[in-house]
Amino acid sequence: MEPGSLTNGTARCGPPDPHGAARRRMVEEQLVARGIRDPRVLEGMGRVPRHRFVDPALEARAYGDHALPIAEGQTISQPYIVARMLELARLEPRDRVLEIGTGSGYQTALLAGLVERVFSVERMDPLLRAAEQRLASLGIRNVALRHGDGTLGWQDHAPYDRVLVAAAAPRVPEALRAQLGERGFLVIPVGGSQFQHLEVWFRSAEGQWEHQRHGECRFVPLVGRDAWNDEHEES
Ligand code: SAH
Repeated sequence: MEPGSLTNGTARCGPPDPHGAARRRMVEEQLVARGIRDPRVLEGMGRVPRHRFVDPALEARAYGDHALPIAEGQTISQPYIVARMLELARLEPRDRVLEIGTGSGYQTALLAGLVERVFSVERMDPLLRAAEQRLASLGIRNVALRHGDGTLGWQDHAPYDRVLVAAAAPRVPEALRAQLGERGFLVIPVGGSQFQHLEVWFRSAEGQWEHQRHGECRFVPLVGRDAWNDEHEES
């Protein structure tokens, strides 16, 4: 069986979705209206049930134009930012993708529908376990999850065609560059603690690292050996 095929089937069967209209509005008003063009990204954002990735008490706000809190002081990113990251990654159906910062698992679910295989690393075990259950309940099988420090990547499955980092980094972690395939793209928010820019890193035809800087964004910090330290959490 095709690993990704189950994800595509889930929206067609099962009970009617009470949030379908809100999701279609989100796609039109927050994504299309702001310039997201990649048809596969738009289709995925219109299909994946974002409300299943937030606390039931926040379900009614799941399709709003903002980030929302998840557990452990973390957030599920604003829909537009998720779509922008996916578009900048220029995903291909055959790609193997490394994601750092599983969080709720929402972006993981989107990736799972767009590429062949997703490897996702999360440093907070309770988040990872909740994400694992959500993904399983949606019948998504082409994802491997790991508890650990994503600034070190996931060497066992390297090289990756794409690397997406969903937390704010002071710089691009060395291991993530090393684990990116020769013609790959790495998408990462880089900057300080208040705001960052989305950056896309890749190698030129001559093998030199280059990057493009895109719009401003605001992510929770990437905490690990090759990023911010977590002193503030221990004090
Ligand atoms: N894409 C997620 C957004 C999660 S927020 C979603 O759709 O819900 C960023 C996540 O990165 C948080 O869950 C945080 O715990 C995680 N994170 C921060 N530093 C990390 C690291 N070094 N390795 C792995 N995950 C990390």
